[in-house]
Amino acid sequence: MNIGILGGGQLGWMTILEGRKYGFKFFVLDKNKNSPASRIADAWFPPEKVKEFCQYVDVITYEFEHIEDSVLENLSAPVYPPLEALRLKKSRIEEKTFLYKRGFPVPSFRPATLKELKETIKDFSLPVIVKSERLGYDGKGQYKIEKIQDLEEIYKNHSAEERFIVEEYVDFLMEVSTIAVRNTKGEIRVYPVTKNVHSRGILLYNHVEDVEDFKKEIEEIAKSLSEELSIVGLLAVEFFITKDGKVLINEFAPRPHNTGHYTLDSAYTSQFENLVRAITGLPLGSTELKTMGGMVNVLGLSYEEICIEEILSLEGTKLYWYGKEKRPRRKMGHINVVGKSIGEVKNKISYIIELLYSKEEIEV
Ligand code: ADP
Ligand code: MG
Repeated sequence: MNIGILGGGQLGWMTILEGRKYGFKFFVLDKNKNSPASRIADAWFPPEKVKEFCQYVDVITYEFEHIEDSVLENLSAPVYPPLEALRLKKSRIEEKTFLYKRGFPVPSFRPATLKELKETIKDFSLPVIVKSERLGYDGKGQYKIEKIQDLEEIYKNHSAEERFIVEEYVDFLMEVSTIAVRNTKGEIRVYPVTKNVHSRGILLYNHVEDVEDFKKEIEEIAKSLSEELSIVGLLAVEFFITKDGKVLINEFAPRPHNTGHYTLDSAYTSQFENLVRAITGLPLGSTELKTMGGMVNVLGLSYEEICIEEILSLEGTKLYWYGKEKRPRRKMGHINVVGKSIGEVKNKISYIIELLYSKEEIEV
């Protein structure tokens, strides 16, 4: 079977590395010939050649949400997860409204145009988070507004036609996520819950966490949301656990997710392998843990800057290096960590973080 992937980033790269085990061929559509997945694909196509790309593939998936309409309109093979999920993800307003209307728990929010921001914010107590409706990722296009003057920054960076979502600032106890996988027959499995720690809007590290009372609720939400969206493939769901004991959905992603990279070494079947199994009509693999695990992102550092000797001398660590051009805070690679207990994994993660970053670089 030939699998097409829209997007050539590290998520596609790992999907190919895992999917090749099944003998499948991979075709990548991305504007950059040298992106991680484009480099290792059986063939690469730029977006203008979308029609040609479709002639090679039996099924299409995506590893990136901000795909141009000119590409989406020209796809002529089955696309999994369905494009409706992707359509919702193109707009943070549509995504949150969908969740709210279907009765899923979300922080309180209001859509607003640039002009309306000042008025809309009056309905909330400060601080609030303002997120641009489109094209945001890794904390980009997001602003914490503590006083009305902080809006100036938004006025400076955005144009009058743009729309935003204003959200209550959630004073969370913890951020967590899980990933559901669902195949063409409707079989669903859910990966363990991880605790995710971000630094200025970008995931810094995560690890499997025992969230006792919340586990069932989180798993149920991930399952029912993947059914509501008729997912075939992966659905990652990010949550806040609030200090007063509530679970709120922050966002979802119908694709492999950074918080699931640990599954490459800790789960019986990685998220990438299960994506490939799901979209090719194969039975799903076990999402259970072989061992406890976690991951540290390498942000904005070159290969020479990461003390590779020390990191890999620590038992139970593995490096995944994407081969991208270095840019400040860019995801350059990650280090997976395994251990017998969550405590052991956490200790190893702390040690790796100390090796990689100074305190200022990783302020939360
Ligand atoms: P992205 O697409 O960049 O991942 P998110 O909406 O997930 O966008 O926001 C990135 C991070 O910003 C979250 O993981 C969380 O740490 C923080 N954040 C986002 N929304 C809120 C909120 N309403 N209250 C508090 N923190 C938030
Ligand atoms: Mg997020």
